[in-house]
Amino acid sequence: MTAGARIQLLSPRLANQIAAGEVVERPASVIKELLENSLDSSARRIDIEVEQGGVKLLRVRDDGNGIPAEDLPLALARHATSKIRDLSDLEQVLSLGFRGEALASISSVSRLTLTSRTVEASEAWQVETEGRDMHSRIQPAAHPVGTSVEVRDLFFNTPARRKFLRTEKTEFDHLQEVVRRLALARFDVGFNLRHNGKSVLALREATDEAGRARRVGAVCGPAFLEQALPVDVERSGVRLWGWVGLPTFSRSQADLQYFFVNGRAVRDKLVAHAVRQAYRDVLFNGRHPTFVLFLEVDPAAVDVNVHPTKHEVRFRDSRMVHDFLYGTLHRALADVRPEDHRLAPV
Ligand code: ADP
Ligand code: MG
Repeated sequence: MTAGARIQLLSPRLANQIAAGEVVERPASVIKELLENSLDSSARRIDIEVEQGGVKLLRVRDDGNGIPAEDLPLALARHATSKIRDLSDLEQVLSLGFRGEALASISSVSRLTLTSRTVEASEAWQVETEGRDMHSRIQPAAHPVGTSVEVRDLFFNTPARRKFLRTEKTEFDHLQEVVRRLALARFDVGFNLRHNGKSVLALREATDEAGRARRVGAVCGPAFLEQALPVDVERSGVRLWGWVGLPTFSRSQADLQYFFVNGRAVRDKLVAHAVRQAYRDVLFNGRHPTFVLFLEVDPAAVDVNVHPTKHEVRFRDSRMVHDFLYGTLHRALADVRPEDHRLAPV
């Protein structure tokens, strides 16, 4: 630090790179942001292409609403979003994104190309940035209605961050986990994932129960589905549905646990505690339960604006949510509970 240095505004590029430090950790975090944007744009089908674990190339192509040509440069600007306008929107935000930071951050640390076409437009338009000056050129391009974002050479201009990337396999595992989670959150959307030219996941949109179960099997493995109990309970406007793995399908790691609140993947202490309690007397010490669960509550009863990565939520009535979760799962597991524990209070 220079003593007595004068105060200066950061350049847009540096400001974006600093913001990127918080939200863009690795290829998996880029994919998360791009997929959330596609889902926010009402895409029905998303194709993801990855090379070298995502470090060399990440391409997400959707058939969503697209971006009007005149908005394309803005899409890459910081604090620019089409998703909220005022504080009241923020209070009941339903979109996955709303901070208007992701594309600006990603484009400051990669070579990014954004191509998009709306249904009203007669052609597609494209902007490119090279992580340099945050000024983008706009030019016509060929693309069906929807949006493609191509991210090349992640962290090419921030070697310190690049150094923290792990092996291609590790990075791809993280990335694939993000795709899995979102594929479970949105049964109604088709997902295709390719890595180094090979198909890894091919999920058609699932509109009925059989289709949803098929997707859970494809994402979590057929063994999970065979050894899971379906759950669907509603009480005073709160609904919990999904699949809970039988104790026989427990794991040595907590790696098959998916919990969604209003379609948003959530890792939450309160939720974890309720689940752990429900499984307490049916699981051996050190074993972890498996589950794919969806909680649906009034959006006004939950605050999602807690952290930029948005894995946490805050429930207005956390006690009620905890007890409802615990009670529902405890009852679902009643038949596999040893006789002398069956009368445990719910
Ligand atoms: P946020 O998602 O928080 O609004 P982003 O930086 O992720 O911020 O995206 C900025 C804006 O670019 C979005 O608000 C949206 O209008 C537009 N956008 C980004 N990706 C897409 C996409 N795949 N389809 C349509 N619009 C998109
Ligand atoms: Mg976004």
